[in-house]
Amino acid sequence: MFDALTDRLTSVFDGLTGRGALSEKDVSAAMREIRVALLEADVALPVVKDFIAKVKKEAVGEAVIKSITPGQMIIKIVHDALVEMLGGEDSDPSLRIDSPPSVIMMAGLQGSGKTTTTGKLAKRLKEKDRKKVLLASLDTRRPAAMDQLAVLAGQVGVESLPIIKGQLATDIAKRALQAAKLQGFDVVILDTAGRTTLDEQMMAEAEEVAKIANPSETLLVADALTGQDAVETAKRFNERLPLTGLVLTRMDGDGRGGAALSMRAVTGLPIKFLGVGEKLDGLDVFAAKRVAGRILG
Ligand code: GDP
Repeated sequence: MFDALTDRLTSVFDGLTGRGALSEKDVSAAMREIRVALLEADVALPVVKDFIAKVKKEAVGEAVIKSITPGQMIIKIVHDALVEMLGGEDSDPSLRIDSPPSVIMMAGLQGSGKTTTTGKLAKRLKEKDRKKVLLASLDTRRPAAMDQLAVLAGQVGVESLPIIKGQLATDIAKRALQAAKLQGFDVVILDTAGRTTLDEQMMAEAEEVAKIANPSETLLVADALTGQDAVETAKRFNERLPLTGLVLTRMDGDGRGGAALSMRAVTGLPIKFLGVGEKLDGLDVFAAKRVAGRILG
């Protein structure tokens, strides 16, 4: 996903480590190249500006330039700044599970991978955390989406709320909570309705559901391949819903991955998981250090 960015940064770093001494001018030139590389990778401009300002401040210091291996030190500074940009070393991607039934609400645009991610999370909660999971689709406008979630639940081996046609999303949420209480489920995942564009009705409905269900996690699923649109989507959802984290899907694709890099800095929300394939095991726990390492090659 970050191949092009990795190639660009590697060549900048090769230029820095290839010789012993560095001047302030060399460092400034390298910073300009890193700036262009980040922008070309689709990292949001304000994020790039902050990043470069921070790295430059540290990198032009006497201690770096006069050191025996200035290039190595600059690589380390860039690495640490990337980790920071992605949420920091101690960022905790684990899900908050309250006393049962704990609710996880999934939000996002149609086609972002929301339902698939719901299935992936159910699998993870069942197999890794040994939780009894109930899935419920609130997509009242698209019967196919409801059926899709039921099929996924079957594949994972968890239960899904029986579908009753004609119910409102808020009523389905209430029914899911009731069923979870009565039947001893640990976690209920609510797969809310998505639309193809940001739409007032979708937002209002999601807000209502959040009020009723009081989720311990409200995750926004965003398609990383949609670039700056994904960042804009996250911003807009964050204004309306009590989001607790992000899931970025299609990170297995070969597009420019920079939008994903901006997400944390722009929204302030932690990235919790990365979708890395269509299959149900295609979900990676997000770790800022690992992703920064991957970017630097
Ligand atoms: P929804 O409308 O947001 O619920 O989206 P879906 O869950 O139906 O996903 C839309 C399409 O994206 C499906 O074909 C999924 O298999 C695919 N998809 C979802 N997540 C990923 C991912 O992380 N990687 C890839 N390659 N495809 C994904």
